[in-house]
Amino acid sequence: MLNNFTEQIHKKIRETGPITIAEFMTICLLDPTNGYYPTRDPFGKDGDFITSPEISQMFGELIGLWCMQTWHDMGQPKKINLIEYGPGRGIMMQDIVRVAKLDKYFLESINITFIEASPVLEAIQAETLSKAPCPVNWASNLEEIPQMPTIILGNEFLDCLPIRQFIQTDENLGLKGWRERLVTVKNNKLGFGISPIELPEWQKKILPTSHYKAIQNDLLEFCPAFSQIIDELKKRSLKSDTRALFIDYGPATTDFGDTLQSLQEHRKVNVFSDLGNADLTARVNFEHLANLSINNNLSVTSVITQGEFLCNMGIKVRAKNLMKAKPESRSNIQRQLNKLISRDEMGALFKVICFQSEGLGLPLGFESLK
Ligand code: SAH
Repeated sequence: MLNNFTEQIHKKIRETGPITIAEFMTICLLDPTNGYYPTRDPFGKDGDFITSPEISQMFGELIGLWCMQTWHDMGQPKKINLIEYGPGRGIMMQDIVRVAKLDKYFLESINITFIEASPVLEAIQAETLSKAPCPVNWASNLEEIPQMPTIILGNEFLDCLPIRQFIQTDENLGLKGWRERLVTVKNNKLGFGISPIELPEWQKKILPTSHYKAIQNDLLEFCPAFSQIIDELKKRSLKSDTRALFIDYGPATTDFGDTLQSLQEHRKVNVFSDLGNADLTARVNFEHLANLSINNNLSVTSVITQGEFLCNMGIKVRAKNLMKAKPESRSNIQRQLNKLISRDEMGALFKVICFQSEGLGLPLGFESLK
């Protein structure tokens, strides 16, 4: 017996044909009544996954220092946007605000805006930030937010943006060229299929450039929203000083292969097993992001690992100080530190990248500009 939501997706495919993986992700993650994000709080031990700001206050605190330094780099403007994409429960911003209290002028300058797709999470963010001594607003996109010096943050936001997948098909099997991998229904079950038509030449131009290196059966992922984000950042960066920091999981250089994954209760599950009740993400292609930025003349840093970034920001010193202040939490803080920076945990798989207006100089925590 299929549940209602699964039946709805089957019906759509039966009526209009196979859908792209991006359409499938959009429905499963964002459908207003049955989608994953709009209907729950997915975080924490009892949820499906845990993110860096939820692991330790140190994460948000260091991002807070990074924001404060950026405000200095921009010449301490009277007003600054502090924008966060996909803020989850708002924990990172809460930690940032606590750090901002160290400098009254910085605190006074801040206007927080969240860009959040889930009404459930928006309500939780409002609660978390209810005592913040600065304005907190929500917007549906970057363009709506007033022009002024701007800091943009996104932790584990890019990985939930819908991806499309393309396969360099095998001529020996009678298929030719790049074809899109689709979600289809066979024997009353959802599964993957392949488009009967070859990707037109003009569309190949928007794929990550490494598609030239593909051999037969290689699968390449592509996130269409990336170019829109880079375009919006570029526009804003020309009008006012802008810096955007993104932290996420994925490779620094393009890899071939299917990385679509579904998580439920901290375990990987089949992507079709519980539609709307399991998280769906894909690895972020940081090389593609950096290339889009370079092609758009938007200044970008070299990609570094989360471990390198947090160590450059002084996380080990912060951990030591916290341990001194709370000796009873010593082993807990050590465990959190390890989770965030160790190469076997989030330290190497997670990467950090920053886009910014021309002339702002090297942002804190990074090693070079591209
Ligand atoms: N940054 C948070 C949460 C990461 S989970 C943390 O680190 O804990 C992803 C977040 O992005 C959730 O808040 C989710 O609701 C939001 N989100 C997912 N797709 C979105 C979209 N298209 N637009 C805006 N927010 C989105």
